[in-house]
Amino acid sequence: MQAGRRMVSVLGSTGSIGVNTLDVIGRHPDRFGVYALAAHSSVAAMLAQCLAFEPRYAVMTDEAAADALRAQLPAACGTEVLQGEAGLTRVVTAAEVDTVMAAIVGAAGLPSALAAARAGKTLLLANKESLVMGGHLLMQAVRQSGARLLPIDSEHNAIFQCMPVDSGNARLSLAGVSKVLLTASGGPFRQWSLARMEQATPDQACAHPNWSMGRKISVDSASLMNKGLELIEACWIFDLAPRLIEVVVHPQSIIHSMVQYRDGSVLAQMGNPDMRTPIAYGLGWPDRLASGVAPLDLIATARLDFEAPDEGRFPCLRLAREAVEAGGTAMAVCNAANEVAVAAFLDERIRFTAIPAVIEQTLERMPVLEPTTLAVVESADVEARRIAAELLAKLEHGGRKVGIA
Ligand code: NAD
Ligand code: MG
Repeated sequence: MQAGRRMVSVLGSTGSIGVNTLDVIGRHPDRFGVYALAAHSSVAAMLAQCLAFEPRYAVMTDEAAADALRAQLPAACGTEVLQGEAGLTRVVTAAEVDTVMAAIVGAAGLPSALAAARAGKTLLLANKESLVMGGHLLMQAVRQSGARLLPIDSEHNAIFQCMPVDSGNARLSLAGVSKVLLTASGGPFRQWSLARMEQATPDQACAHPNWSMGRKISVDSASLMNKGLELIEACWIFDLAPRLIEVVVHPQSIIHSMVQYRDGSVLAQMGNPDMRTPIAYGLGWPDRLASGVAPLDLIATARLDFEAPDEGRFPCLRLAREAVEAGGTAMAVCNAANEVAVAAFLDERIRFTAIPAVIEQTLERMPVLEPTTLAVVESADVEARRIAAELLAKLEHGGRKVGIA
């Protein structure tokens, strides 16, 4: 280990964000060392990453996968294999770690992101579900421990880049900000009718026009739930009321979001749609690092279009807005029901258009509680998954895929 290198734990290292993070880290061996890599069960990918980056630890949350990795790692490789949630906690709280990339997908990422925030680390947050579910707890932990949260989601990273920095303490300030313009590509079904969406297959939903991402977030992008989750994420990160955030569909994904000021100025952050830009910004902040992303060619891009989102065809955006307005555990419920419905759609058990129906009915059946502890949030998550699964069972009757009742 070289002196002066920042040590990073990458959670979700075998996923889309994880691989892009290691790509950027690999370009700057003088600046960064990998303390730990963590994933669920992808043993072959983890083995290759361990050989390439020689982390101190590799965590597999799946125990059988941890055993398999132990058996396959060559003796000469100094990486120790840990397992389960305890392994994640250890590699995000260790004294040697400066920076944690939180890129696990879904609610499973909340406990480790929270542990990193409580330990005062620099938290590079890609896992938006942890903020949607436990934003109150996560932001409180950041404030109390003095952790630094840098958003990796491209829109929030763009907003962060366009926000004024308080010169006194290098923290963000909202001085003069009148609105945040959250851009959305509109996803692969932007121009599809509801009838056509009803027949959509998982592969069609995952064929995003601009971004290459994991399957869960790809389906979220197709339903616009991704934008709904990002609306909630922006409320927490920038301490904004939902009415100050306007969703703007921008099909080219060149502008990654904008901040509008009271004097009429609008600042936009632009670039090719490649997650290595926000990842490099998070890793290097406040410096700018080479990321491997091709420079933007505006002449070749030629045009930038904008349109309003259609909440009639994409009800998930409305449901997320209603959840943030309801507050408390409603956001965790919305997130959990969405995860259950998306998994069922990816397994071809329900139609694409049934996703919002499952979420809406789960929200209707759950009380809204104050999210004072992780236990309260986690029990809302568990109960919402149970109710959503019950609703799915009704939708799946007769073994036939069925849509909205
Ligand atoms: P992915 O499916 O490609 O990868 C997920 C990673 O999480 C894998 O390494 C997997 O092993 C790990 N994982 C899954 N379940 C786990 C568990 N229970 N415990 C520990 N690890 C687990 O997902 P992705 O596209 O890289 O997205 C990761 C997160 O980043 C998501 O929250 C997503 O919303 C967010 N995000 C992704 C993108 C993108 O471009 N891919 C952009 C913005 C935000
Ligand atoms: Mg995004």
